[in-house]
Amino acid sequence: MALLNRDKVSEKAEKTARELDTANFRITQLENQFRELQFTNKALWELLKISAELPDDALEEKLLAMKQVIEERANQTMTCDSCQRIVPADKPSCYYCGAALKHDK
Ligand SMILES: [Zn+2]
Repeated sequence: MALLNRDKVSEKAEKTARELDTANFRITQLENQFRELQFTNKALWELLKISAELPDDALEEKLLAMKQVIEERANQTMTCDSCQRIVPADKPSCYYCGAALKHDK
């Protein structure tokens, strides 16, 4: 009986280790994609700046405006019709029960 439990525990540990490996691999992939997107954005901005003769401030102003909109949306909450919990309003479905959130707009 004790031997069986030990087998089950080590089986679980191996499964967890595999899941951790997969998660770490995925993080590395996402970091690489993130770096690629950073380079792409930088290159696009440089091209736009040159071709449209835009000052560096133009990008900063636009980014600030976009950040404000995103933060405003992230701070809004609503009550899920299905489970009655408070959830972020900027999501299509409830974190807790998965029900689609009915947005007024
Ligand atoms: Zn819910």
